[in-house]
Amino acid sequence: MREQTDIGRRGLLTGSFLTRKGRENIERRQQALGPAPPWHQAVIEACATCNKECAAACPQGIVRIHPDDHAHAGRPWLQFSTTGCTFCGDCAEACPSIESYDRELASIGDLQLNTATCLAWNGVFCMSCIGKCDVRALQMDERRRLVMQDNLCTSCGMCIQVCPVNALDIQFG
Ligand code: SF4
Ligand code: SF4
Ligand code: SF4
Repeated sequence: MREQTDIGRRGLLTGSFLTRKGRENIERRQQALGPAPPWHQAVIEACATCNKECAAACPQGIVRIHPDDHAHAGRPWLQFSTTGCTFCGDCAEACPSIESYDRELASIGDLQLNTATCLAWNGVFCMSCIGKCDVRALQMDERRRLVMQDNLCTSCGMCIQVCPVNALDIQFG
């Protein structure tokens, strides 16, 4: 009976590798769901066992925790589906493993524009994201295509949620 159960379990595991959905589920559980909060990269190992004070402290409500069945279980990540990061520092203040932090060293990742899907790059007038950027890192060129000023962008993520075709994303890691 025990042998049959083991065979069944092995079959299920093998099956999950063979199907596309199974492979996608496994990959999703291996890759971080989003970038870490701005000053958390240095303490990411300690995050696995702390009490998640950063998530409770974030006034924007964008700090999420990887679930138990994930390779990054317990670590915080930033969810930009409703708003972005203000770099207020509350997550770092609340973290028991961050003793001090330098506002100049805030790091989330790099904003990427997918010109293959951006409406403004494909003949459709769209400026939805531009108004979300306080530092004017997003602008239109003379052909009404969206251009990013990398030197101005802070990767706050404020512009991500307004894009109707998900052409903006933050690369991290
Ligand atoms: S810096 Fe502020 S807004 Fe950004 S993740 Fe931390 S608590 Fe949230
Ligand atoms: S992520 Fe960059 S481009 Fe987008 S709103 Fe923030 S600073 Fe502006
Ligand atoms: S909101 Fe999206 S589709 Fe529109 S210009 Fe910005 S990136 Fe392009």
